[in-house]
Order: sequence, then structure tokens, then C-alpha cells
Amino acid sequence: MKQEAMLNPLCLDSVCAGFAYAMGMPAPQKAQVPAEALTAYVDHHFGGEKANRVFLYHPDAVAEWIFRKYPEFLYEAMYRTELELPLQAVMPSVTPVCFGTLYTGAQPEVHGIRKYEKPVIKIDTLFDALLRAGKKPAIIADSSCSMGKIFLERDMDYFIFDSIPEITAKATELILADTYDFIAVYHGNYDSTMHKNGPEAPASLAELKANAQAFALFSELIKSHWKRHNTLVGFAMDHGCHEIDGNAGSHGLDMPEDLNIVHLYKAYPREK
Ligand SMILES: [Zn+2]
Repeated sequence: MKQEAMLNPLCLDSVCAGFAYAMGMPAPQKAQVPAEALTAYVDHHFGGEKANRVFLYHPDAVAEWIFRKYPEFLYEAMYRTELELPLQAVMPSVTPVCFGTLYTGAQPEVHGIRKYEKPVIKIDTLFDALLRAGKKPAIIADSSCSMGKIFLERDMDYFIFDSIPEITAKATELILADTYDFIAVYHGNYDSTMHKNGPEAPASLAELKANAQAFALFSELIKSHWKRHNTLVGFAMDHGCHEIDGNAGSHGLDMPEDLNIVHLYKAYPREK
């Protein structure tokens, strides 16, 4: 008997307060309770200390079913992480709605983005919470994507580029400079290729592998250059995807393919 596909019980709105918890600061005002698996993982690996660095890598649209079906394309990220956190994205499962929830800890009706549009979010976000706590956050993203738009207008640094290599280069530079407490890096190359060619096309799987390799590069640099810090690193996508007619891909629907995702996390305790 074919098993009915199920939605992951834990919602994407639970990671935001988890990041705040990891850094020992209050969560954004409307954030839901943190994912216990994440807070327990952080407590265990930092031995009761807090993370003073968080680095989140955001590959767009990497679905759980893709993650399960094509581990060979993601192993560079998988073997550099420890905590596998299955999550359910929010509806509609499109980029600005999901990143809105990821960084406010709130449902779409609360953060205000309820369809594919990219206004600046007005409610309290993790970036606001970081600034109040005296921490220095940065977003590195491309000029057309949600991550480069919906969190603007905060007194923080935004590095917005037109290409993946420029984003990767800036992220590398910021890791080496070691001056930011929180870095969010967005790569939309799997998403854009998947929309044109389908989620499982060779061209799309190549971008998936490129995402895992970018994450591997950042992880290795953090390991060698942030030894003085307790660092939490995440491979944290926004939503999944599914195949549609005409060898193309899509997302946005209320279905497990679009909603089920798996975040990957790794704690690097400081060298003592
Ligand atoms: Zn997306």
C-alpha cells in the first residue's frame, strides 16, 4: 500500500525564536515558541554557552523530497551538518511569505506578506531583535529576490548583487573579516533553474550541488577562521517545489512537495 504523504508537524515559524535563543537574546515580538530540537541542540553543543555567531545559508526551494531522493547532490552540506530539522513551510509556499515567517517567527497573516509580493516587513524581525541586542547583522542577496527586499529599512548592512558569484565572494569576504555577528546569505539558483527545467532536470540538480558546495565552502572557512566563536551554521531553505507540465517546476501550493523542507544545522563550539 502506498503511504500517504504527510506534512511535517513542526512549522517554519519555530526556527526564528530558536536563533534568538541560540544567541541569548529575546525573540522578535510575534515569534512563536522555538523548536525544541534546535534549542536542545544548541545547549548541548555549546555546553550551556550561547552562540555569538550565526551564519545562515538560504538555498531557495530545496524540497524535502529532493533532499531525500538526491542525497548524492547534497552530501557536501549533509556531512557538514548534524541536526536535521524537518519543517512545514507556510502558505502560500512562495519565497517572500516563507522568508517573512522564517525571520519574524510569525504566520503570514501576522507579518503581512500573504502572496507573492515583496514589501518591506513592518513587524519586528530577527534583524530588529539583533540590533536591539547590540549585534551586527548582514544580509547578502541578489537584487530581485525577496531576501534583498523585505527586510530593508533597518539600520544594518545589506550587500545586494546581481549574480551568485558576487554573493558568494562577499559572503567569503565577510567570514574572513569576522566583524558580523549574524550573516544571512541567499542563493536562488536552484529555484530559478527548477522553474524553467523541472526539479529533477540535470541542470537543476547541478544547481542543487552548487548550493551544497557553496555551503561547504562557507562551513570550511567558518571552521578555520571563527575558532574563537561559538557559531551556529544553517542550511535553511524557504519552501519546496513540485514538477508541473512541460518539464517545468513550481511551488506555492498546499501540498507536501511544496511545504515539507529539512533544515540542516551544525554547531561549532569555540576553541578553548
Ligand atoms: Zn523561494
